[in-house]
Amino acid sequence: MKEDKNLASQILKFAAVSIILLLILNAFIMPKMSKASIKETNYSYFLQQIDEGNVTQVKIENNEIRFKVVNEDGTYQVYSTGKMDDPDLVSRLYEQGDIEFNESFQDNSLLLEFLVNWVLPLVFFAILWNFLFKGISKRMGGSNAMSFGKSNAKIYVKAQTGKTFDDVAGQDEAKEALVEIVDFLHNPEKYAEIGADLPKGALLVGPPGTGKTLLAQAVAGEAEVPFFSISGSEFVEMFVGMGAAKVRDLFKQANEKAPCIVFIDEIDTIGKKRDGSINSNDEREQTLNQLLTEMDGFDGKKGVVILAATNRPESLDPALLRPGRFDRRIPAELPDLAGRESILKVHAKKVNMSPDVDFNAIARATAGASGAELANIINEAALRAVRNDRKAVIQSDLEESVEVVIAGYQRKNAVISQKEKEIIAYHEIGHALVAAKQKDSAPVHKITIIPRTSGALGYTMQVDEGEKFLMTKEEALARIATLTGGRSAEELIFNSCTSGASNDIEQATKLARAMVTRYGMSDSFDMIALETVTNQYLGGDPALACSSETAAKIDTEVNAIVRKAHEKAISILTENISKLHELSAFLLEKETITGEEFMEILTRENDPVTE
Ligand code: ADP
Ligand code: MG
Ligand code: ZN
Repeated sequence: MKEDKNLASQILKFAAVSIILLLILNAFIMPKMSKASIKETNYSYFLQQIDEGNVTQVKIENNEIRFKVVNEDGTYQVYSTGKMDDPDLVSRLYEQGDIEFNESFQDNSLLLEFLVNWVLPLVFFAILWNFLFKGISKRMGGSNAMSFGKSNAKIYVKAQTGKTFDDVAGQDEAKEALVEIVDFLHNPEKYAEIGADLPKGALLVGPPGTGKTLLAQAVAGEAEVPFFSISGSEFVEMFVGMGAAKVRDLFKQANEKAPCIVFIDEIDTIGKKRDGSINSNDEREQTLNQLLTEMDGFDGKKGVVILAATNRPESLDPALLRPGRFDRRIPAELPDLAGRESILKVHAKKVNMSPDVDFNAIARATAGASGAELANIINEAALRAVRNDRKAVIQSDLEESVEVVIAGYQRKNAVISQKEKEIIAYHEIGHALVAAKQKDSAPVHKITIIPRTSGALGYTMQVDEGEKFLMTKEEALARIATLTGGRSAEELIFNSCTSGASNDIEQATKLARAMVTRYGMSDSFDMIALETVTNQYLGGDPALACSSETAAKIDTEVNAIVRKAHEKAISILTENISKLHELSAFLLEKETITGEEFMEILTRENDPVTE
């Protein structure tokens, strides 16, 4: 019971500290404070003052007399003097008439003194301690001392999450794997008969927002067994050993309630690799060790299944991933085209949709969006419908909300000068024209020069016809050329360039770099991995894995790729300069044009008769 010892030592510490403080207070400070205003004097001065009629109050204590002398100017001074064997004192005081005197004061003062010096500070300390202690124990998730080290996992049963597998769309592989686990919990005999052990643990991995937590909740909803849900961060404690105690408690509860499911969300908070580095965390390591031990300890046939979710699987300790622990990995990847469409449909069920909404078009326009983003798109669309006083969501609501999620809200009141608007229009048409004139490029879907809250002043949306899983070298080059198209148009028409291309430059560089370092698509390097990507689910930060000479060569190569693409874009625009003018003027006037309008104007060129 390490945690109890911890607690006991805390209390001891508190007691020791407060007693020492009290002693100091009473020994040095209090007497000074109360005696500071009292002057010592002798008995004869006392008698003299009584005779002169300056004394107004006398208090006779055990071996001391205190008296108050009022001066002529109204100020007073309290004196103390020793007690003499003076039987006449009382009558002398009485003769003076207006002196208040008593002996009983000493009891009062003793009691008062005791209260002030000992009880009050104690009460004060107790309150202070209580305060601190409450704060601590609250952080530990308990309301009193006895709940130290309790796991505090929420227990769900079916009705409580209200989620089923029907709420999860587009994660068919993950669902399949989880359905098997649910089935095991329902009919363990079926598996026991053939002698199969079900995996003890399954790890849901994938980028944020792909429905990992949702999947676990759906399992809870379907399994009809107790479901313990706890987040990895809840194990992280202030005192060493608390997290481990929580893990122990959690598994103890789970064993009692078996068959059941334990779900640990964001497990990377406790499951990080133990690397012995200088800033390694003792508490976290103990918690992880406890988790490892517990997972080995329980009987796989008993029916405790452990689910965990993370978006940083590569940072997990290998011991956690070995067979017998989290031996099954269930990927929750970003949804593909069909997946996006069905996720949109699942969320659209809750919303009043106009019947002619084309979910496929929206799904195509949202390549790379996660389930959470798609849910957000539906909600934004519903909000827009309300804003426009409509009873149902229509296609344009959805299209607008796709743009809101991608690029932010329209900045309707942004004031942009005519000159700048013109530059932006040429820039966007530059992108669109270069895209349209290359055969390996996705068709243009929409061009707009309405500024957005993300800072984009305009953009060109390209939407592929179907789902793409691979990118060819030609497509990559076409993409880079398209990205340079905006700047190329500026250079061609205005003979200068603006800062508006910064995002294009960033993207083009990133792609060109990846072509050289990771895709093996450059002329000077063969199939060599010059960069490795860590954190693949969280955006991925590439780390160079080569000598500095090679790094310099990579830079040259990247520059060459982008330069070539840039030249290609300029030559495409030069060939189509009249269309560039025509389309830009049209965009400037309309602010937003669709892909069809764009293509319509563009293809007129091939038909000089209508011109
Ligand atoms: P994470 O993978 O980060 O745990 P969540 O499970 O919390 O993501 O997903 C957040 C929200 O996104 C869910 O509540 C749900 O509304 C929506 N969502 C994500 N993926 C899906 C999906 N596959 N099907 C339906 N909704 C989804
Ligand atoms: Mg989650
Ligand atoms: Zn641009």
